[in-house]
Amino acid sequence: MFDQERGLVAQGCRVAAARGLVDGVLGHLSLRVDDERLLVRCRSDTDTGVAFTRPADVRLVMFDGTAGAAGELDGYRVPNELPIHVETLLANPAHRAVAHLHPPAVVAADLAGITLRPIYGAYDIPGVWLARGGVPVYERAVLIRNSALGKEMVAAMRGRAVVILRGHGITSAAATVQQAVLQAISLNELARMSLRVRAAGGALRDIDDADWDDLPDLGPSLNTDAAWRHEVARLDG
Ligand SMILES: [Zn+2]
Repeated sequence: MFDQERGLVAQGCRVAAARGLVDGVLGHLSLRVDDERLLVRCRSDTDTGVAFTRPADVRLVMFDGTAGAAGELDGYRVPNELPIHVETLLANPAHRAVAHLHPPAVVAADLAGITLRPIYGAYDIPGVWLARGGVPVYERAVLIRNSALGKEMVAAMRGRAVVILRGHGITSAAATVQQAVLQAISLNELARMSLRVRAAGGALRDIDDADWDDLPDLGPSLNTDAAWRHEVARLDG
């Protein structure tokens, strides 16, 4: 059941790890399959880390964290931070996929007091749109292990697609697994560039307001389909 979806969530985990957005065993992805169940990357005694996520590591669970079908949690445990996924999904029906990752550049930039702003344009169009108006920050560094903290994080997200979790990582929500991971990759790149500009002694300035009109949406075939083929090809290379 949901073999294709499990494969996609597992692939998303591997892509995120390959891009350095997670290290070791921390971080997870999920995909809602209906009104009460989601597929989520779980833990087990044979887990060797996010970079090596197998489709079988992705289990079907209810929004309350219990097994979504017979045997789903036999030998598997939901992540402590399942509420990140559940509360993000509950907050907006358009959110079907959630990536919770620990990208070091994003965490470092935020801790350095750098607000992620639209500092570039055509360098990464989908990425810069994510930062228009600033990227929201959830200011607590806590493990988000209950629904009260999950709701607090969602409130800090202010209806946006991504939120920085101070001293922790990020949450990225989208209609698809691919989009959730690609957003995380873009946010990480924006953080890396922001750190780089500052390290070179430069100041971070927003692009000119007049430039937004000419930073068009180039469409899903380039932004998502081709971008994802590239990410998967990198894994195999
Ligand atoms: Zn975490």
